[in-house]
Amino acid sequence: MHEPDFTLSAGPTMSSLRVQQAQGRPMIFDYDPVFQEHFRETERMVAELFRTTKDVVLMQGEAVLGIEAAARGVVSPGMKCLNLVSGVYAKWFGDWLRSYEAEVVEVEVPYDEALDPAQVGEELERHGDFEFVALVHSETPSGVENPLAEIGPLAKRAGALVFADVVSAVGGTELRTDDWDVDIVVGGPQKCLAGPPGMSLCVVGEDAWAAIERNPNAPRGSFLSLLDWRETWIEGGRVKYPYTPSVSDVNGVHAAVGECLDDGLDAVISRHARAARACREGVKAMGLELWPRSEDYAAHCVTAIRCPEGAAVKPTLTHIRERYGVMLSGGYGELTERLFRLGHMGPGARSLYPLVAVSAFGRGLLDLGVEVDLAAGAEATLRVLAESEETVAA
Ligand SMILES: *Cc1c(COP(=O)(O)O)cnc(C)c1O
Repeated sequence: MHEPDFTLSAGPTMSSLRVQQAQGRPMIFDYDPVFQEHFRETERMVAELFRTTKDVVLMQGEAVLGIEAAARGVVSPGMKCLNLVSGVYAKWFGDWLRSYEAEVVEVEVPYDEALDPAQVGEELERHGDFEFVALVHSETPSGVENPLAEIGPLAKRAGALVFADVVSAVGGTELRTDDWDVDIVVGGPQKCLAGPPGMSLCVVGEDAWAAIERNPNAPRGSFLSLLDWRETWIEGGRVKYPYTPSVSDVNGVHAAVGECLDDGLDAVISRHARAARACREGVKAMGLELWPRSEDYAAHCVTAIRCPEGAAVKPTLTHIRERYGVMLSGGYGELTERLFRLGHMGPGARSLYPLVAVSAFGRGLLDLGVEVDLAAGAEATLRVLAESEETVAA
């Protein structure tokens, strides 16, 4: 089989030429002054992207590494944690908390709904002594976005440390780390930023550092150690790493974040919102049902669609990939067989990519005998793009 013509998956997603060229740059020594300045500049750009003045820690390894490092760093046995669950990733996070012997309370909503700040507020009040509150900003597996802007300050006011997994939110939807009182944040370059899937973009604030220092179980002498990183790199004046950074991945992140900031963060966010709207309108016009129960909280990164009667996720995706060269996604974890996902991240949020996703999806279903109104879907998708105030071109 050939490589796909279009990768409109749930991530990793297509990268731009700028990212590809950055990753293809010559390998240089990690202590070369050019690379060190490049590394420091990447940190500053990531801080701008996360709208924060807190410390940025660029960890080497896919975002799961950063999430594990954050959880292990902060959480100690007996610590009272509130885990807010609206999807697969948050559920997994709870398993981690329990494995560190934290005392875990969970607020769980159905995976086609978003967290409700009022319900979270009640839970915070009822217990009154949570030390740590965790949530996922954008639940990629179900295409649902949670109101971090409201929940962050609520949890902080209740005296808890706030953790947010923003892996698929950053660079695609509004994220204000400092304004929203989030203490420890982990993002990924391979979703809306369309960078390489090899790094964790972490932000650690003062309160989070203090909690990590207090935690006797916080990793030391470990690849997972945020403290080692701070001691060696940050406190040492940003000249010495605890381990060798992946030069190519840092170059890729620098390019991906640079592209986003050069285009303007607000413009990039509204581009993702528009692509998501175009896909939703297209899918609905074809006669299919969105997975999120309300479009008020439909994510910007992917559009999730309920698997229609008579269709099966895997064979449909295989057919679309083989026949049309378009890579879409199914569900993930326990949602694997229940929904489809059209990705519209990075370059996939530009131009007519939403039409490619919607038409490949609709045509694929039709080919396999599932009735959809393909023409209405294409027309509705294009209408959103045509009526957009900004140009949809690159
Ligand atoms: C992609 C993603 C991660 C990282 O998980 P991988 O599947 O290993 O890429 C974590 N959290 C969220 C919300 C994600 O979208």
